Amino acid sequence: MATATLSLVTDCLFCKIAAKEIPAEIVLETARALAFRDINPQAPTHVLVISKSHHANAAALAEADDGLADDLLKACHAVAVQEGVAETGYRVVFNTGPGAGQTVFHVHAHVLGGRSLQWPPG
Ligand code: 5GP
Repeated sequence: MATATLSLVTDCLFCKIAAKEIPAEIVLETARALAFRDINPQAPTHVLVISKSHHANAAALAEADDGLADDLLKACHAVAVQEGVAETGYRVVFNTGPGAGQTVFHVHAHVLGGRSLQWPPG
């Protein structure tokens, strides 16, 4: 596995969680990804999967390092298995840009499961 190269942004909330400067309920950690419970869960399972290095959103991450995008997706699935929602079904959401509801500008996947999920999302 590739070793992590951390590029942290000092005023970024999720960089601070990645650096363990702000506490979070961490459920999974890999060399380049960190998964922790959302502070305002929207489903019984609501975990955020972030890259440890700073990228503003999924588009920026994919442009910078598509191997890291692969790592994040694998971490999402590992979280779903660990949380027991992989069999029943789960959703992975990257809100990308303010118009899509992104409020924290450090790439993160929402892993949601444990209840029936509607489509289309609001
Ligand atoms: P976005 O709206 O950017 O897609 O998602 C940001 C998510 O981060 C939200 O679901 C919000 O509840 C979560 N969040 C915001 N601040 C914190 C925090 O300090 N800790 C944790 N664990 N989650 C946070």
